[in-house]
Amino acid sequence: MTFYPEYIWFNGRIVPWAEATVHVYSELAVRGASVFDGIRTFHHEGENYALCMEEHVTRLFESAKILRFPVDIRPEDVYEAIATLVHRLDITETGFVRPTIYIDEGRYGYRASDTKMGWYVHAFPLPRSSSTTTGIRCAVSTWTRATDNVIPPRVKAGAFYQGYRLARLEGFDRGVDDVIFLNHRGTVAETTNSALFVRRGDQVVTPPLSADILESITRRKVMELLTSMNGITLVERYVTRTELYVAEEIFACGTLADIQPVIEIDGIAIGDGTPGTVTRAVQEEYFGICDSGANAPKGWLTKLARPRT
Ligand code: PMP
Repeated sequence: MTFYPEYIWFNGRIVPWAEATVHVYSELAVRGASVFDGIRTFHHEGENYALCMEEHVTRLFESAKILRFPVDIRPEDVYEAIATLVHRLDITETGFVRPTIYIDEGRYGYRASDTKMGWYVHAFPLPRSSSTTTGIRCAVSTWTRATDNVIPPRVKAGAFYQGYRLARLEGFDRGVDDVIFLNHRGTVAETTNSALFVRRGDQVVTPPLSADILESITRRKVMELLTSMNGITLVERYVTRTELYVAEEIFACGTLADIQPVIEIDGIAIGDGTPGTVTRAVQEEYFGICDSGANAPKGWLTKLARPRT
């Protein structure tokens, strides 16, 4: 597995990895002016499929819109780039694709006419993590999640992740796999790369978007799955820190993380400290769909068409 494949899509074409460079004085380098998204791909019977590609690319463009990037490409350009690159790299296993739009040249103060945009797509094989089976240990971060009026969590911008990185590093120092952010209200937001679901009895609770979380696409899909599961009521509401400790089970979900049982928080076992039954049921449905190729329900998997030669 390599995160540094032979080729990358760079400003409208495939180039050798080493040729995709930007200047140190670009807005990307100086002020971290980029938005990105992450999309899983699955290989099934000789074809590659992208999971929720349109929803991810829509979010990419929404991130750019909020940051007032004068984007000069269309979603269709990104779809084409993804399909072309995945075929060129001949990815024949589970993969990950990261489209990024950035400001190459431009001033700190926004003026579209002074701004030169750039974009790239990076793709690489990435198998499902073993922590989807073993579960992860978390701690509540001492860092607070920024709110919509500060650094909007809805926006997936490269620079914003520096704040999450601080929290991750603190978590690693504390010996856990990831951390859980509280927001400015003091209620639970999410981890550094996943949305959270918390089971209390027969209710599965997830913090609402107003809890300062990313508008996660996996969260949306998991909510769809939970809604059709018997014996479970899905509730979107604020969750307090101590509720985490007494929950029967908790899981985190995201494109890269997939569905991960959270088995411990702040040294306290969640439930009996093993992956819970609802977590397992959601994993079975979710992974079943991801691995089903052309048989997936509508809107989940898009076949990546081979480029015309
Ligand atoms: N929160 C954060 C901060 C993330 O970076 C991610 C990963 N994109 C998620 C949640 C999960 O979002 P999604 O399900 O759309 O990947």
